[in-house]
Amino acid sequence: MTPSEEKARLKLLLKVKDREFDTLMHDAHERAFACTDCLQCGNCCKTTGPLFTDKDITRIAKHLRMKDAAFIDQYLRTDEEGDMVLQVVPCPFLGADNYCGIYENRPKACREYPHTDRVKQKQILDLTIKNEKICPAVELILKDVTALVNASSKKPNNAGRR
Ligand code: SF4
Ligand code: SF4
Repeated sequence: MTPSEEKARLKLLLKVKDREFDTLMHDAHERAFACTDCLQCGNCCKTTGPLFTDKDITRIAKHLRMKDAAFIDQYLRTDEEGDMVLQVVPCPFLGADNYCGIYENRPKACREYPHTDRVKQKQILDLTIKNEKICPAVELILKDVTALVNASSKKPNNAGRR
């Protein structure tokens, strides 16, 4: 997609009312993940690490039978925005089979990725557009929603007709 096509798409999507946009995104999320196998992909774990909250660190360190400080020393660093992130990607907990080695205890950000089923989707549309380059499910979701919005904006207006 060219920058001008991207701009036109953003303009189109931002015209949709907030609640309606959430519904469109959530329905498209369900459809996209019904036909996406994350175990065949793992791209988010390979290319972008999650943020780790204090709660994540304590839970995962406990699971690994480590002290929080030792876990931080071994796996995390503070990024430019002051957030705790992985020292390296691909994530060291990602297996060769794309299974997560700490799945039950994985960070909240991993559970919520790619965030296309949360409320107030328009507020994170920039992030979703960035995630489109990483996540094939997000690509499907945005294509799906854009097609629906396009189709409804082209419907004839019959108001006033008999
Ligand atoms: S913790 Fe698990 S889900 Fe999160 S990035 Fe690492 S491998 Fe992926
Ligand atoms: S990038 Fe998207 S499709 Fe791929 S594993 Fe992550 S969430 Fe699943």
